[in-house]
Amino acid sequence: MCANLKIADKLTSQVINQNICCNCGACVALDTSKKAFMRDDLLPNFSSISKDLPCLAWDSCPGKGINYPELYRKHYGSTPANWLLGHYKNTRTGHSSDATVRNNASSGGIITQTLIHMLDNDIIDYAIVVQQGISHPEKSGVIITNKKEDILKASQSVYIPTPLLQILPKLEEKRYAITCTPEQAAALRWLQHSDHEQAQKIKYVIGPYTGTAMYPGAIRAFLRSKGIKPDDTITSLKWRAGEWPGYLEISMQSGAVIRSPKFYYNYLIPFYVTQTSLQSIDFTNEFCDLSVGDAWHPQYEKERKGMSVFTTRNQDMETIIKTMIKNNKIQADIIDPKKSLNMHGHMLDFKKRGSFIRNKLRKKIFRKNAPFYHMKPQQIPKSRWIVEVFLLAIFTICHTRIARTIVQLIPEKILGSCFNTARKTWKYLSKPTKRKNLAKLEFREIDNEE
Ligand SMILES: Cc1cc2nc3c(=O)[nH]c(=O)nc-3n(C[C@H](O)[C@H](O)[C@H](O)COP(=O)(O)OP(=O)(O)OC[C@H]3O[C@@H](n4cnc5c(N)ncnc54)[C@H](O)[C@@H]3O)c2cc1C
Repeated sequence: MCANLKIADKLTSQVINQNICCNCGACVALDTSKKAFMRDDLLPNFSSISKDLPCLAWDSCPGKGINYPELYRKHYGSTPANWLLGHYKNTRTGHSSDATVRNNASSGGIITQTLIHMLDNDIIDYAIVVQQGISHPEKSGVIITNKKEDILKASQSVYIPTPLLQILPKLEEKRYAITCTPEQAAALRWLQHSDHEQAQKIKYVIGPYTGTAMYPGAIRAFLRSKGIKPDDTITSLKWRAGEWPGYLEISMQSGAVIRSPKFYYNYLIPFYVTQTSLQSIDFTNEFCDLSVGDAWHPQYEKERKGMSVFTTRNQDMETIIKTMIKNNKIQADIIDPKKSLNMHGHMLDFKKRGSFIRNKLRKKIFRKNAPFYHMKPQQIPKSRWIVEVFLLAIFTICHTRIARTIVQLIPEKILGSCFNTARKTWKYLSKPTKRKNLAKLEFREIDNEE
């Protein structure tokens, strides 16, 4: 079916125009005419001579949905025993032993420290990392580097989409490590298992546990709510500055410096959350060699020092982590995977059940395309469907222009604090429904959408 259709047309009509593109940039990287590019709105642009994209551009597209059971088998040899965590060797909590790395990082600095270790020990030649503000403070970009200073500068999460995989054609005959979000990691693995030459150069894939990202419009909306004029230019932006869990910190040309605690500026999420966040089914970045998240636990939250929870997924990465612990590059303890999953029960449910419900409702009610993953949860309780219908209604209302306009008029101090209280209350109230049967969740393979 793939061979008979113009893949660029198919991607345009069935993914991009349906608003389910994940902005990963893989299709652009596969365009042999080299005329395709990612536009400023982070969507692919195919020119008339790039219309004969290979079938691989369709098969590896995470927007239309990756065939997850097949990818699990190709990459790990089987589907996972633990459907929430994916395949794993060990789960740990820990942090970098280097105070500078730890303090500058999003959580414990595990990703930054691992990349530095791999460069220092000649395990890789280059790291490919994502950084806010490379070409423009409001945008994110990609850096290919072998310098420790650059890795340090790129530490911290970037909560807006970055079309990372478009850089694949630029890779030379070197060994690379890359940091990827889950959809990018899945697309990259698909390319690797399809013997795509450039993708083979990436030897290690490391990535964050990924809950929600926001459209870049969130930044200006936030500034307007703080009374910053539209003509005031941003000079720097950090999503996780300062003491863990960190602040959104934006410096302006006028000299103003705006700071908002992480849990306050999260009020922007319902208004600007990306469609990818709503449709994706992978929270713990299951196709990375090493996946890292915040270790949300009352004890660590009280200490306010960056702490990561991280999962190794193969023996090679397990050995790297053990060496780093032995050489005191990181401090870490193995924890029961159940304990690690408990730190993220809400988000695991959001992805592993919520996304399937949202995708189904998107098709049935809104008559729009949604990704098809060739698998579905065995059973979702009715009460869980009701919770999701309520959530989807909120997201739909919040995404309207009028809601986005109103939210900018309310001072962030009021909104942030109200949102934080509402978030905690919602989490508390929905916890029984959202956690019910979650730990026992199983999936089954399906050939066609049901
Ligand atoms: C969009 C997004 C959503 C997230 N949601 C959650 C969540 O819900 N719960 C949770 O526990 N953790 C979440 N995280 C992960 C968390 O924010 C930290 O990234 C993670 O704990 C790693 O911390 P660290 O201190 O080891 O990373 P650091 O040492 O600070 O290094 C971060 C590395 O990741 C790279 N990077 C940053 N952003 C991106 C990106 N968008 N794409 C690819 N590479 C990137 C940077 O280049 C850097 O090398 C999210 C991260 C992102 C990017």
